[in-house]
Amino acid sequence: MREELDPFKESQEQLDHAAELMGLDKAAHAILREPMRELEMNMPVKMHNGATKVFKGFRIQYNNARGPTKGGIRFHPQETKSTVKALAAWMTWKCALADIPYGGAKGGIICDPKSLKPDDLEALSRAYVRSLGDFIGPKVDIPAPDVYTTPQDMAWMMDEYSKIVGHNEFGVITGKPLEVGGSEGRFDSTAMGGMYVLREAAKMKRINLRNAKVAVQGFGNAGNFAFNLATRMFGAKVVAVSDSNGGAYSAKGLDWQRLADAKAKTGSVSNCKSAERITNEELLEMDVDILIPSAIENQITEQNADKINARIVLELANGPVTPAADEILFQRGVLDLPDFLVNSGGVIVSYFEWVQNIQSFYWTEDDVYKRLDAIITKAFSDVMRTQREYKDKGKKISPRMAAYIVAVGRVATAMKIRGWY
Ligand code: GLU
Repeated sequence: MREELDPFKESQEQLDHAAELMGLDKAAHAILREPMRELEMNMPVKMHNGATKVFKGFRIQYNNARGPTKGGIRFHPQETKSTVKALAAWMTWKCALADIPYGGAKGGIICDPKSLKPDDLEALSRAYVRSLGDFIGPKVDIPAPDVYTTPQDMAWMMDEYSKIVGHNEFGVITGKPLEVGGSEGRFDSTAMGGMYVLREAAKMKRINLRNAKVAVQGFGNAGNFAFNLATRMFGAKVVAVSDSNGGAYSAKGLDWQRLADAKAKTGSVSNCKSAERITNEELLEMDVDILIPSAIENQITEQNADKINARIVLELANGPVTPAADEILFQRGVLDLPDFLVNSGGVIVSYFEWVQNIQSFYWTEDDVYKRLDAIITKAFSDVMRTQREYKDKGKKISPRMAAYIVAVGRVATAMKIRGWY
């Protein structure tokens, strides 16, 4: 029932729209419409049972005008090159909007991590790094976790890279465990950054977050922590949550611990006994103050955008709202805050991790959160200011377009100064 979407075309459409609004130079536009480098690898992996299996992987390095490319690696059975390309473009805008000194990249391996044994995951992680060779490195391209990849996977990848170069190189990858060069605060940084954005947005919309009704789609690296933090930091009431198997609802508010237990025991939050079972579709259309899509792409589309009842949509996932849906939400007056602003906390703290690795000087959790707050709050106000400036010129643009204009403008300026056009 959902329309077939090509994520990369979608990301190009968004760029085209921004380029038109901001009067972007034609050459800069042409450079930014395509990735700088596309790597596609076929990787033989010796599995725990002795058989050799060949996996396909990608690494897309989109643009490095502002610094080394940066972005996560996804392990996903339905991974496509188009998705990875779109995500690499979004990383470029994300790092530029946060104003951290990176370009953008993304990686992916077509595999089903849930069915792989730890030994096979290790072998696959190491094979991926070997196949990338010196196309990655702390000054070249710095991967990190993303959908279905973990700090342990990052540790194996860092170890493999360190073996290749002959010395420890913690700064080659971020999102590592604390014991091997990870940063305090990285594990919940995506959600924490989203909470700082939510705090600012609620102030602007005059919404009291205490007891505000929240629905969270997803219970992974982002959604799980968003649920917990929204309750702890603001006293918000999370009434609905879901994962890929379905959702749970309680008008009184859900208990995080019970859901985490249900997930650990049965594999899904939808099996939580003290809550009502709902579908992912129902969750998205729920009558709440805040909707936090924290799972995967293309969840709010032309088909359901007019049924979204939330006042604020906080896009903690990458690409959960399609361009057409974005326009519908904007026309309806729903404040839809774009992914590459809302979820930039992950890469911002990755940046801190890389800085700490390079200096071998480690910060406290408090240092990390304070600096994260300052950077992401500035990004939020840059977006809102740009939206207002366009409004004053008679052009009504969505927060996503305002964010694009800020980010693309920064990348284009760097390319211009470097003499690329
Ligand atoms: N995967 C995260 C993202 O999409 C983090 C990337 C990073 O830390 O490099 O932003």
